[in-house]
Amino acid sequence: MKSVSSGPVRPDDSVLYVADRVRTLSAEQPIADALLVRWGKVAAVGSREKLQAANPGARVVELRGATIVPGLVDAHGHMVSLGRSLSILSFVGTSSVEEILQMARNASPASYEGDWLVGRGWDQTAWGKGGGFPTRQQLDAVVPSTPVYFTRVDGHAVWVNSEGLRRAGVGRATPDPPGGRIIRDRGGEPTGVLVDNAMQLVGSKIPLPTDEQRQHWLRAAVEKCVSVGLTSVHDAGTDVPTSVLLRQWDATGTLPLRIYAMALGKLVGAMSSSRWGAAGAAVPETGIIEGKLFTLRAVKFWLDGALGSRGAALHAPYSDEPTQNGLLLIEPAELQRRATALMERGYQIAVHAIGDRGNTLALDILSKAAADAKVKDPRNRIEHAQILRREDIPRFAQLGIIASMQPTHATSDMRWAEQRVGRERIAGAYAWKSLLDARAHLAFGSDFPVEDANPLLGLYAARTRQDVRGYPAGGWLPEQRLDGEQALIAFTAGAAYAAFAEEERGRLRPGMDADFTALSVDPVGDPPEKLLSGKALLTVVAGRVAYRDESVLRSAAYPPTR
Ligand SMILES: [Zn+2]
Repeated sequence: MKSVSSGPVRPDDSVLYVADRVRTLSAEQPIADALLVRWGKVAAVGSREKLQAANPGARVVELRGATIVPGLVDAHGHMVSLGRSLSILSFVGTSSVEEILQMARNASPASYEGDWLVGRGWDQTAWGKGGGFPTRQQLDAVVPSTPVYFTRVDGHAVWVNSEGLRRAGVGRATPDPPGGRIIRDRGGEPTGVLVDNAMQLVGSKIPLPTDEQRQHWLRAAVEKCVSVGLTSVHDAGTDVPTSVLLRQWDATGTLPLRIYAMALGKLVGAMSSSRWGAAGAAVPETGIIEGKLFTLRAVKFWLDGALGSRGAALHAPYSDEPTQNGLLLIEPAELQRRATALMERGYQIAVHAIGDRGNTLALDILSKAAADAKVKDPRNRIEHAQILRREDIPRFAQLGIIASMQPTHATSDMRWAEQRVGRERIAGAYAWKSLLDARAHLAFGSDFPVEDANPLLGLYAARTRQDVRGYPAGGWLPEQRLDGEQALIAFTAGAAYAAFAEEERGRLRPGMDADFTALSVDPVGDPPEKLLSGKALLTVVAGRVAYRDESVLRSAAYPPTR
């Protein structure tokens, strides 16, 4: 990023950002056209004339055609996976097995980890013909002797070849691990697809990334995030080396956006060190970390799997697979015990729950753990909250449990979700409007790299319940659509609340952190389809420019990044 000719901006300089409109999400002054920033904070919000007259020395940044909103937050993303997905093979958007096999055949060296060929993003529901799982034999035909590890788009299943199974010693005699499933053919032989806890049987054989590789992935991920207007990401499953690295970047001023870490609730391999992991989770013995931009005060557990691979735990069997009820990845009693112990140490608990049974159990577990730990404002969260029984919807607000949801999951899954759960259960699917009407706190994200990290796509999906081609007309389960402001709040103030930061961020009021995003579209006032062609023009975190769109701002004065 180039700096301006007028020299670097010092923190005590005043900068006046002028836009077509500033949406503050603050009741006192919901709409303005200028925002004054000083010392990394919002100094004033109001009209350009008044603010300029009162601050004649302020630098002025003109953002013509732009709408400024409070900094957009992705309340559920995966930073390392995002960076990794930018270098390994990506099958997102492919529509046939043949296309993927062609990519495997032509893979470049960047797609290898150790001698494993690695890829991500396949989705059998996009292949037509009944949407069955692929097989190892299909991979063997193009990659016979190199081990292959291709993760499903939702991260809850892998497709490997025979060499991959051989390296892991997985065969017909291998039992399904607890919370996992080895898909088998009629003769009992593994077909090459492993679901949830069975993934690790093979995944643990892939060499762990080197520090250099991890740094490269994380750097690529933070750059991607600020370029789509994100000022903060809640990282849904941070391991120890990643936390250590982010903390270091924060201390040296090289972290451009806020990261709210949800530490892994389960230690993986040799990732713990002496001062980390004493609580059985990827957290330091010293307790919560509150840095400048990096915070670690949450711990994430996976309670069930995902709907696409039929790992989501359901009360009644799958409508399209009557022998399956889904999987529990951890014993409920064990999760409750660990959640209580971590809450006593001040941690917020985030539980991945997708199926209706997973959600009932998560609500039960989190409410009991909060009572046992005697925490006043635990603000525990359920990640995804995808399929809910009608009677569980009001419990989110009653128990003070945040619904952390991803609008683009609804529009990616809508083509097949009803096949999985049937007509009756689909009424409680991705039911963010019902949750909001029941006064639950919503925090929105994308689950990148499962979905695109661009929050405009999430804002669009939340308002329309349509895919980017406008399908279906009128929206899928349209009674669950939000209005533009409700959707924006879930991506800003709602996400700030989920990180205990609603007094500092999520709205633009004097004294709050100067975290904001300037967009080429107005996410509230413009028709939703216009958001699809919109983009971030400027991303500002704590008063510092983390990203600017070159084409638009070349002529404008603007404060350089660090
Ligand atoms: Zn996730």
